[in-house]
Amino acid sequence: GSGMQSLFGRIQTKAHQTASRMADQHVKLAVTGLSGAGKTAFITSLVNQLLEGNGTANLPFFTLTKEQRLVGVRRVAQPDVRLARFAYEQGMEALNAAQPSWPVPTRGVSQIRLHVRYKPGQGVSRYLFDQSTLILDILDYPGEWLLDLPLLGMDFPQWSAFCTQQMEEGGREVLSQPFRQAMKNLDWLGQENELQLQQLAEVFRQYLSDCKKHGLELVQPGRFVLPGELEGAPVLQFIPFIGEQAQMDWQHIPSGSNLALAMERFEQYRTKVVKPFYKAYFSDFDRQIVLVDCLSALNRGEQAFDELQRAINWILKSFDYGKNSLLRRMFSPRIDKLVFAASKADHITPDQQDNLIRLLESMVHNARQDMQYRGVRIQTTALAAIRASNVGQTQYQGQRLSVLSGHDLNGQPITLYPGDVPARRPAPTFWQSQGFEFPNFAPPLRDPLTALPHIRMDQMLEFLLGDKLA
Ligand code: GDP
Repeated sequence: GSGMQSLFGRIQTKAHQTASRMADQHVKLAVTGLSGAGKTAFITSLVNQLLEGNGTANLPFFTLTKEQRLVGVRRVAQPDVRLARFAYEQGMEALNAAQPSWPVPTRGVSQIRLHVRYKPGQGVSRYLFDQSTLILDILDYPGEWLLDLPLLGMDFPQWSAFCTQQMEEGGREVLSQPFRQAMKNLDWLGQENELQLQQLAEVFRQYLSDCKKHGLELVQPGRFVLPGELEGAPVLQFIPFIGEQAQMDWQHIPSGSNLALAMERFEQYRTKVVKPFYKAYFSDFDRQIVLVDCLSALNRGEQAFDELQRAINWILKSFDYGKNSLLRRMFSPRIDKLVFAASKADHITPDQQDNLIRLLESMVHNARQDMQYRGVRIQTTALAAIRASNVGQTQYQGQRLSVLSGHDLNGQPITLYPGDVPARRPAPTFWQSQGFEFPNFAPPLRDPLTALPHIRMDQMLEFLLGDKLA
């Protein structure tokens, strides 16, 4: 009967799907980093290197192109139509202009899908297929959102204590002044006033974004600075309790009070924003790259550097797959490769790049001491998605010295020696006598028909995709 037929049809479809899954590999690569770390430049370059893989791209360490097995790369419609489309074309337009400018970043999640057609190399598939397609999905999301993970393990009084303590640290004391002042008018136990809470939340957000402007990156809740689709939503309208916690009877908060409302919103933020973010994306990635702008942090001083170090620590917790980790209890994550990359490595001379990698390694190493990464390979590196400087030599006090030349953001040519990068967390004296400066370069002037110049993007492609293109 027809039941039998449709069952047969289903079996056939299944068989067909299995065969095509063998032929076609699928990789979901997630790219993250705090704002300004270089995600947009990185994805733009990655796509550009692949599109130009058979042309002008310079990829000596990428086996696929080295062995001339790349057939062609095509951008196709992305799978999730609710997400912003990664603005590759607009980014390239900016980079190809007569006066090149940096691509404008998206401030939320965006996605791009590529079909990479290639000839299989050594593997079994070589005998079965002349050509295979790797479906590559790249997802770009703000690293700030990962800083929210620790919130899942905190209650409102704990989070408030954390915020209060943080407001006393270094430069944050001055930056938090307006907020602490405004707080004095709030009657925590009085009748809830949604509008007042909204206004105070606005002052709190201002404090957090001022911190970021000063390079203080340990900002939480992440959506307060990068709200994405939640801009203006009440779930972002709460504030920490600033005051004597000991005097508060946390078991008996009067319902209908300002405090009860703030606590409820905090709870909703945890359950309706943070958890769903992890559920929606994290069970789905295969590979993750985290870009870290170590050089800007070094530029900005000790507190900025220390906060970046702590932010990396928090971000790493999002990949802690130990038996008892928060994540494993929520879903089964499956990332098998994790890369930490110091971005913008074209801001330093080649002789300093090992130091930059070691510096990042030491930051990651300290953070991962007591975490378990079962089955996850972690790699640390330094790269420039888009190399905007050239290396030259000069004589200085009888010695040969490497220098960088490029253009500043006004298009003026500059040549400089940016200085030495410390190979580990610098000693306190370093910050007083800081002997280097990293300028911002304009994107390189180049023939728009050529691939973007880079540093180590080919090694990155090899590590992240090489095994899937074998
Ligand atoms: P996002 O916010 O993480 O997407 O960061 P972007 O990709 O927008 O990068 C922020 C800024 O860093 C850019 O506007 C550039 O000025 C700079 N930048 C990013 N990548 C590079 C790079 O590879 N080399 C240089 N010289 N600058 C870079």
